[in-house]
Amino acid sequence: MIPVAKPLIGEEEINAITEVMRSGNIAEGEGVKAFETAFAGYIGTSYAVAVNSGTAALHVALLAHNIKEKDEVITTPFTFIASANSVLFTGARPVFADIEEESFNIDPESIVEKITARTRAIIPVHLYGQAADMKSIMKIAEDYNLAVIEDACQAHGATYGGKMAGSFGTGAFSFYPTKNMTTGEGGMITTNDKNVAERSRMIRSHGSKQRYYHEMLGFNLRMTDIAAAIGSVQLGKLEGFNEARIKNAEYLSSRLSKIKGLRVPSVGESRRHVFHQYTIRLKGGSAVRDNVASLLNKRGIGTGIYYPLPVHRQPFYKKSGCNYSLPVSERAAEEVLSLPVHPAVSRSDLDSIAGALKEILTG
Ligand SMILES: *Cc1c(COP(=O)(O)O)cnc(C)c1O
Repeated sequence: MIPVAKPLIGEEEINAITEVMRSGNIAEGEGVKAFETAFAGYIGTSYAVAVNSGTAALHVALLAHNIKEKDEVITTPFTFIASANSVLFTGARPVFADIEEESFNIDPESIVEKITARTRAIIPVHLYGQAADMKSIMKIAEDYNLAVIEDACQAHGATYGGKMAGSFGTGAFSFYPTKNMTTGEGGMITTNDKNVAERSRMIRSHGSKQRYYHEMLGFNLRMTDIAAAIGSVQLGKLEGFNEARIKNAEYLSSRLSKIKGLRVPSVGESRRHVFHQYTIRLKGGSAVRDNVASLLNKRGIGTGIYYPLPVHRQPFYKKSGCNYSLPVSERAAEEVLSLPVHPAVSRSDLDSIAGALKEILTG
């Protein structure tokens, strides 16, 4: 089976963990600090704050920006549920804008339509490893005085206009094993705002700067030095991983682009797409898509559907008043199919994937 995602853990990661375990300092300590400094350096922000998941990074970032009850936060429904749940955690209301047909990312025009007097923030998601339209989004944020929290959980190393995803507003990254780099579980907040960084550090650790003196309500969302040790090694490998993903994606597109009824992913202007997912679109709706997926699976090719049900259609979101239609997102949910392009996929794997798809779709 060629899996659709696979973490690449080598001897370096294993040795790094062993060293931490032998040191006896296994919770948050110097290892986390070193990982934060290296990650901030990579993204190009003044600060990075490590937490124990991407979900925590989003939650903490919103709280650090003082998002609370009665506020509205605009985001995309075509994402992993954590992007929107993080808004619910704060007591604020998620409001969904529709996406762009080509990029699958939030549509700036739709954002503007959803702005009200209560809107406080926008959460663009850099889906599949490709940056959202950050030029337009930052302009809207400036015009309406809104915070921007970038869900960069799938976009480690993606750029827009030469600038890293996660460095435009406040960034939130995930290091779950399926992502472009991993720490097992883990997350990171990136920012140039000293106040946001300071508040984030406090919120992740029971609202304290100094141990046992608590200035606000916080949580325990800390990363361990064990996870940070894995992260520091993985960060050193990230550019290599991303280059392999990009090369695999380009090759697959060259093999698939002429097949009828199938659309290969497009890379938008001024962007470096790091292909967290390589997602094609199949004409004919979910029955066709699901059938193609099952035929590929039978031939040993793993696939993924990200995401089969947009967030505004999830039962508990529907119940809480999301009774509107977002047609571009709803159609995408029925037509997308992700194929393996991660660094462990070989050229011959890609040939098998392309050959199988050609057979299935052209008979
Ligand atoms: C993975 C992911 C998250 C959540 O990250 P976790 O580390 O699993 O909590 C949030 N948003 C998006 C878009 C993701 O892909």
